[in-house]
Amino acid sequence: MDTSGVESKYYDTLTRVYTKEYFFIQARKYLEEQPNTEFCIVELDVNRLTMINDMYGLVEGDRVLKNIGDSLVNIFQEVPYSLVARIHADLFVFMCPYSKNEVEGYIRTIEDNVRFLSQRLSVDLLLSFGVYVANEADVPISSMCERANLALKSIKGNYMNHIAYFDTEMRKRAVDEIEITTKMNAALKNKEFVIYYQPKHSLDNEQVIGAEALVRWISPSLGMISPAKFIPIFENNGFIMKLDEYVWEETCRFISENLARGIMVPPISVNVSRVDLYNPKLVEIITGLVKKYAINPKMLKLEFTESAYTESMQQMLAIMDKIHEHGMEIDMDDFGSGYSGLNVLKDCPVDGLKIDLKFLGKSENDVKSKKILTSVIHMAKWLGIPSIVEGVETIEQVNHLKSLGCTMVQGFYYAKPMPTEDFIKYISEHEVSSSIETIKPFEETVLNPDEWYESVESDCEPLLEMHHSYMLFNRGDNNELEIIRASDSFYESMGGRDRKYRENIDCSHIIYPDDLNKVYKTFDEINDYHTIGKCLHRIVYDDNTIWVYLKVRLLEKYEEHKVFFATMDDVTDAMNVHGY
Ligand code: C2E
Ligand code: MG
Ligand code: MG
Repeated sequence: MDTSGVESKYYDTLTRVYTKEYFFIQARKYLEEQPNTEFCIVELDVNRLTMINDMYGLVEGDRVLKNIGDSLVNIFQEVPYSLVARIHADLFVFMCPYSKNEVEGYIRTIEDNVRFLSQRLSVDLLLSFGVYVANEADVPISSMCERANLALKSIKGNYMNHIAYFDTEMRKRAVDEIEITTKMNAALKNKEFVIYYQPKHSLDNEQVIGAEALVRWISPSLGMISPAKFIPIFENNGFIMKLDEYVWEETCRFISENLARGIMVPPISVNVSRVDLYNPKLVEIITGLVKKYAINPKMLKLEFTESAYTESMQQMLAIMDKIHEHGMEIDMDDFGSGYSGLNVLKDCPVDGLKIDLKFLGKSENDVKSKKILTSVIHMAKWLGIPSIVEGVETIEQVNHLKSLGCTMVQGFYYAKPMPTEDFIKYISEHEVSSSIETIKPFEETVLNPDEWYESVESDCEPLLEMHHSYMLFNRGDNNELEIIRASDSFYESMGGRDRKYRENIDCSHIIYPDDLNKVYKTFDEINDYHTIGKCLHRIVYDDNTIWVYLKVRLLEKYEEHKVFFATMDDVTDAMNVHGY
């Protein structure tokens, strides 16, 4: 990259790369100077930068951007006719002569550099790349960048696919997007958005135990449009907030009118887009509707998508707390589609998990996806979180799920989403569960305590391997707190104690005496599966004292015994900074 003779005003103030304006000028110049060279423009977006800003502060976020800028400059400084710029925030762009192999090679190098950064920060900083091969020289550079951006957006948040090339299909989608955007407001007013309901069934007794409200757009000019097409557009332009509020209100109306007619309506779940979480009135709107239609808060359930958790964890946790205060329940939708996976279970007080078979691979014999499904169902079980599997299409899937102990399903095998009248008919012809309480997800444990501990241990093995984690057993009667199993990383952080310390440690031996009561209290106050206990305390080993941030949730209760799952982060450095 040639930087000679360029005034500093052409450089981005935060990073060492060019500004967007200078990029536009210089890129045009290269295209004109090299008419026989095929160039490409690649936009790259840093996923989860918000998370870094939230967790480590803006300064660290800026440092990440600087690092990425540096790595781009280093890679391209030897490449003739290349340019690197920052368009805004976490969006970079580069231009270089196009050869698929070379460009993908540069991308791999950038990803390797960023992987190194991710390890340092313990946040998986994924990058997405959108490539536009500039084979129409007279297109303005800004439009070329928009095309690279369209390609980028098509995979943003997709953890399997990091690179997308602009193609004509994308151009068509861009045209559709304009059409949808121009028609959406009138469509809402004209009631073109219609709600379909898809039943949820119990696998134990086939009863209808719930339903999901799914929106459809029936447009007089465009026909029936699937939400997969318009929801992402509405999420981008913010219209989703209006549409969702409409869907929630229509669902409340449906519940209240039909209960008043004496029809046995099951609890109905509505989807809450990740964008809704940015609406400061969200909780007020939802609880206001429940009050307005005088329905039991358990009758309107909410589905939050896992990707929302990834993007705005703090926001989501705060909202969940408030929703719970109003007696409503929240399921985590599309669990397993994003990266957060088990972290969600650790931190997030969800009332249920929805696992979509489509995220687990198609083939019936796909051993890996079966393993994932099995472990997620088991994990949910031990965390006391009911799970429902959606996308169930065949009897083979139903039988397999039954064998795993899964109790709730939703999918075409039972019923497709259907319009209101059909759904009323459906629930009058099927048995609807009479209880609005969450169905007890699993059989009561009938083992003796020893067998019970053993099975908790083996089922929780994957949980334990994920973090500085350990599992505790609280003997209810004498209030002793004992570690019954812990991950290797926990022992490493304890100075690599040997195996004999591993099991059955009485916590009073390792917790700093002054902090003991505080720790006991944290555990004692947890009596349900929603509550997450948090406590800052010291542990002592040999002559060292370390500060840890402890987070605990209840895994299982058995008579007077309780098993907790806890994670610990070593925060000694931070405490030292604050003079503790
Ligand atoms: P979702 O919430 O995960 O909904 C499940 C999707 O799976 C629905 O697609 C449903 O029709 C489909 N499905 C159900 N059973 C099966 C099956 O057995 N096989 C297959 N192949 N698919 C099945 P749909 O209705 O097209 O909705 C797609 C997504 O659009 C939803 O995914 C949800 O994220 C979003 N969505 C739908 N309605 C709304 C809404 O009112 N508000 C918001 N924010 N998002 C919505
Ligand atoms: Mg859903
Ligand atoms: Mg889903």
